[in-house]
Amino acid sequence: MKEWSQRKMIPKQWQNAIDVINHIEQAGFEAFIVGGAVRDYYLKKENNDVDITTSALPEEIQAIFPHTIDVGIAHGTVLVLHQEEPIEVTTYRTESTYTDHRRPDAVHFVRDLAEDLKRRDFTMNAMALSRTGEFIDLYDGRKHIDERLICAVGNAEERFTEDALRMLRAVRFAAQLNFKIEEQTFAAIQKQAASITLIAMERIQVELSKIFMSPFPAQGIQYMQESQLAKYLAGDFDEAAWQLFQSDNRQVGWAYFCLVNQDVTLLTHYRCSNKDKQFVKQVLAAYECLVKGIEKRQLLYFEGEILRTAYQFTLWQKQPINITWEQLQQQKLALPIQSAKQLAITGQDLMAWSHKKRGPWIKDMLDAALQAVVNGDVVNDKQQIKEWFHATNDEG
Ligand code: ATP
Ligand code: MG
Repeated sequence: MKEWSQRKMIPKQWQNAIDVINHIEQAGFEAFIVGGAVRDYYLKKENNDVDITTSALPEEIQAIFPHTIDVGIAHGTVLVLHQEEPIEVTTYRTESTYTDHRRPDAVHFVRDLAEDLKRRDFTMNAMALSRTGEFIDLYDGRKHIDERLICAVGNAEERFTEDALRMLRAVRFAAQLNFKIEEQTFAAIQKQAASITLIAMERIQVELSKIFMSPFPAQGIQYMQESQLAKYLAGDFDEAAWQLFQSDNRQVGWAYFCLVNQDVTLLTHYRCSNKDKQFVKQVLAAYECLVKGIEKRQLLYFEGEILRTAYQFTLWQKQPINITWEQLQQQKLALPIQSAKQLAITGQDLMAWSHKKRGPWIKDMLDAALQAVVNGDVVNDKQQIKEWFHATNDEG
């Protein structure tokens, strides 16, 4: 068979992977591209994350290549640096018994590719591709992709008993690819859904994020419901609320999940970061303002990205808003300042002018000053605000 490169069908970013395979073969071992990259290659979808599987042991890989990084030798993975690009090379392995429904009790390195493919989750993820572009497809992966089906490798019930996360991965792939979950595979998930509670929240968070960010989030949410997985996970998975949702930003996904659930504690439950929490808090505050009818000075509290996200939420939630996004932006641009931070005075100024101690009054007064500036009652200038401050306070 001709080399791929001669046939000009090789994705350019795969050249490094092919080079690495060549080296491994020259040293007398087998190596193939494997997993998600092969699936996406068959689907003609871009995937720059090319993993290699090999008959060589980790030490043998380390001996073949001058630049390697040990990222998980116990699991057989060595990072090979080729042309400064890191490529994951993992030794063929089988996984022994799974007593905790999460991780194999031990992994064993083997010299047979078929053994390695057998341990993989779905038929579409269990294919290998040779350096020359030949598919090793022992489980009808290509046929199932053609039928747009997610199908467990081997006995679905056994595979989900080994590792419960695979159930959520099935739903995630359904949302990413707009595939259906094959009947027996789906029945096995329904039967074993409760075991999803054995999986670490951080790993569940990753899969939920991928569902939110997928091109078909509503399909994923519907599958969460129908598969019974939703029953054992915190939050409502109400497909109707997700019909219009579309985002490639995970934080936007989590903010929307909190909005439709009216519950921000979900972020803590799913171990989201403080940065995520900050973002969600702001978006939901902006959303509240928009729904109630946002006031001019409130436009200054929120950054453009936050406001834009909150505005999208009103559309996705079918909230009646009597203003277009363009009008809202124009309103903001027409204000004398563009951010609350641009206000010419600080709390220190207020304390100095009033000889009063620090207290909640400062926040209220700054807010009033901001209001006066955006309304055009006073110019955003320290001296003028001082006069305005004394005038309003003397009145009071
Ligand atoms: P993505 O595009 O999201 O990276 P992927 O298919 O590459 O999708 P990874 O999580 O990167 O998914 O895993 C790489 C490969 O490892 C999978 O294609 C699959 O063959 C195998 N795999 C990953 N997780 C599991 C699992 N929990 N059980 C069995 N095989 C798995
Ligand atoms: Mg991957």
